[in-house]
Amino acid sequence: MLAATCHCGAVRVEVPRKPRRLTSCNCSICRRYGTLWAYYKLPEVQVVAMPGATDEYMWGDKSLKFVRCRSCGCITHWEPVTLREDSKMGVNARNFEPEALRSIPIRLLDGASTWKYLDAAP
Ligand SMILES: [Zn+2]
Repeated sequence: MLAATCHCGAVRVEVPRKPRRLTSCNCSICRRYGTLWAYYKLPEVQVVAMPGATDEYMWGDKSLKFVRCRSCGCITHWEPVTLREDSKMGVNARNFEPEALRSIPIRLLDGASTWKYLDAAP
């Protein structure tokens, strides 16, 4: 188990294992947040927070919500608004301890226009 916590510790996101790769996306929201995404299936992830500890932001077609700590403002994850068993979510890997991310390759996603990866597939 690996946990990603916001700066103040009010929001903790637990995942079962290290991600195999991380995604840096250049879309209008990700480039502003400066997030690094690790993708998991929804049932694999546990978000531990007191009720009301988080706030969220939606834009565009509002199919995803970006969740942040209400206290320190760190983006913790995104998840689909309509939850299904096979839904995926993105955990902000910037909130893991840096040692946990060492040697995990970062892929560049062109979310701003083509939705293709800009680097060669590892
Ligand atoms: Zn916080």
